Amino acid sequence: MDGVPCKRKIPESAKKWTEVQKRTWLHEEIAAFLDLFLFAENTQTISELHEGMSYMEHGRLYGYTCRVDGCNEVFMLHPMRVKHECSQHSFISPDLLTNDERDNEGYYKCRDVNCFLLYKTKASRNRHERKTHDNIPEQSSSVSGEPQEQVVEDYKYNYHVARLFYGLLMVNTHDSIREGDAARLMDCMKMSLLFFKKFKKHKYAYTVLLFLCKVFAILSEREAFHLCWNRFFNGKGGKGKNIPLDLKMEFYNHMLKSCLRMLGGNINAKSAQRVARCLTMMQKVLDSVDCDVRLVNKSGAHKLVEAQQAVSQIVNDLVEGNVFSFQRGREGYTAFPNFERDILKGLDYRDFFSWSRDLIKTWYAMYE
Ligand SMILES: [Zn+2]
Ligand SMILES: [Zn+2]
Repeated sequence: MDGVPCKRKIPESAKKWTEVQKRTWLHEEIAAFLDLFLFAENTQTISELHEGMSYMEHGRLYGYTCRVDGCNEVFMLHPMRVKHECSQHSFISPDLLTNDERDNEGYYKCRDVNCFLLYKTKASRNRHERKTHDNIPEQSSSVSGEPQEQVVEDYKYNYHVARLFYGLLMVNTHDSIREGDAARLMDCMKMSLLFFKKFKKHKYAYTVLLFLCKVFAILSEREAFHLCWNRFFNGKGGKGKNIPLDLKMEFYNHMLKSCLRMLGGNINAKSAQRVARCLTMMQKVLDSVDCDVRLVNKSGAHKLVEAQQAVSQIVNDLVEGNVFSFQRGREGYTAFPNFERDILKGLDYRDFFSWSRDLIKTWYAMYE
């Protein structure tokens, strides 16, 4: 903890700097650190997803133009275009020749080398293969035959970069709630949607996508604004002291339950309703009594000493392990031997596109 950086040194003149100068310098250092470790090689999946989605959306909206120079024929469906390109121009698009089971548009390719038919589902592709071709293996043989790649990864480094990425997303989410910054929270939610999809948290992914659709498409501008911004509560006043409105509701639920218990044998729908209606007022009365007797609310936050110990422990581990210097071929932790640096890697834009398209279609019918 007492060490000083040896690579990006703290300038000598720093002692004479004003607070603002110090802050600016620190922010610049952090930006450089994040650019190097997070954004240099870690955002490939996100940009792939972004490009892939707009590519597929474009096809759905404007049709599919023949990809041979000089021919501008447009087709309603992508397989029709491919058929035309093969038969009329003998042109084979590069994505049909890869080992990937699907082409760029997400269609399943027939695995016969001379057949370039495309199918929407795996099952229909397999049916076609069984009917038309005799000697196609049931399992795709894309992996075998390729030479074994040498280990060029540093799995320990990967783990910490991925963890930093995820941790910062969490911190950003919490901080945007505390600041009551709905616009930033929205960005965090968009990012979380990718995480939910990647790690197969289907219900969460569904809820977040529906929320985004409501905000951007289903609700009126006024309602959408309320849905976004009316989700924080500040009981104590002051900057950065907001809590989620849901949590406030939970506090009320907790209070209601203890009041209902006190009713004992007198509990019925009418008395329960009465208690529920006076909760806000009761809270105010209780607060004012607390204030009068100068009762200090116990804070749920951790004590500073504990936090300091934890932080210094973490810093020591990170420095000793030299985790942020890339060492080719370094083994990972035993619990996570092959950790990907890009935590979202494997999230396929074609799956994401068809999943979101299908849901939007369903909601369109429901909310029209
Ligand atoms: Zn053509
Ligand atoms: Zn075929």
